[in-house]
Amino acid sequence: MPDHPRLNDIRARIASAARGVGCDPATVTLVAVTKTFGEAEIVPALEAGHRVFGENRVQEAKSKWPALKARFPGIELHLMGPLQSNKAREAVELFDCIHTVDRPKIARALADEMKRQNRQLTLFVEVNTGEEPQKAGVLPRDLPALLKLCREELGLAIAGLMCIPPHEEEPAVHFAFLAKLAGENGLSQLSMGMSADFETAIEFGATHVRVGSAIFGKRD
Ligand SMILES: *Cc1c(COP(=O)(O)O)cnc(C)c1O
Repeated sequence: MPDHPRLNDIRARIASAARGVGCDPATVTLVAVTKTFGEAEIVPALEAGHRVFGENRVQEAKSKWPALKARFPGIELHLMGPLQSNKAREAVELFDCIHTVDRPKIARALADEMKRQNRQLTLFVEVNTGEEPQKAGVLPRDLPALLKLCREELGLAIAGLMCIPPHEEEPAVHFAFLAKLAGENGLSQLSMGMSADFETAIEFGATHVRVGSAIFGKRD
C-alpha cells in the first residue's frame, strides 16, 4: 500500500498520546477532514488505506464523495459542520456520522429521515462550551433537555458530544468540561481536537479527533 507520511505522522502522534494516558490507540478514531480539498489530496489518503473522512458542508461533500465511494469501498463519512433541516435528507443519504446535532429541529429532521431511509447514523450533540453567541452548539445548560428529547421522544441514540473550543482560550479547559458533561449524561464518545490540539484532546478522553490541515496542508 502506498505510504502517506503526513497521515503516518498523525497516526503515530495519536498512538503516543493515547498510550501516554494508558489508552488503547485503537479507541481513538482519526477523522481526516477534507473540506476545501479535492481528489488530488484525498485519493492518496484513500490509497494509503485511510477510510474515515470529515466534511463541513453537505453540498460540497455531495460533489466529491459519491464518486470516491464508488471507487473505494468501506468509506465512512462524517459531517462536522452546521446542518440545516432542509438538508437532512441529503445528509442522511450521504453521511454515516453527524457531529453537529444541536437543536430540537435538527434532531427531529434526522429522526424522521433515518426512519424514512431506514438508515442508522451515529450522532453526536455539539455543545457550545464557550457559550459564544455566534457559534453553533447547544448551550451546556440546555444539553440535558435536548438529550431527553432525543432519547425519550424521538428514539434517537446519541453516541457522544462534540465541541470546538473558542479560538483564544485554552482548549484543555473545554475538553475537560466536555468530558465532564458526557460523564454526567451517560455518554461515552467525545469528538474533540483538531490539528493544533488533538493530542491535548486525547489526554482528556477524545474518541474522535478531527484533523484537516496537519494531514492535507493549509486551506485557501
Ligand atoms: C475544519 C474543521 C476541522 C479540522 O481543522 P484543522 O485545524 O484543519 O485540523 C475539525 N473540525 C471542524 C468542525 C472543522 O470545521
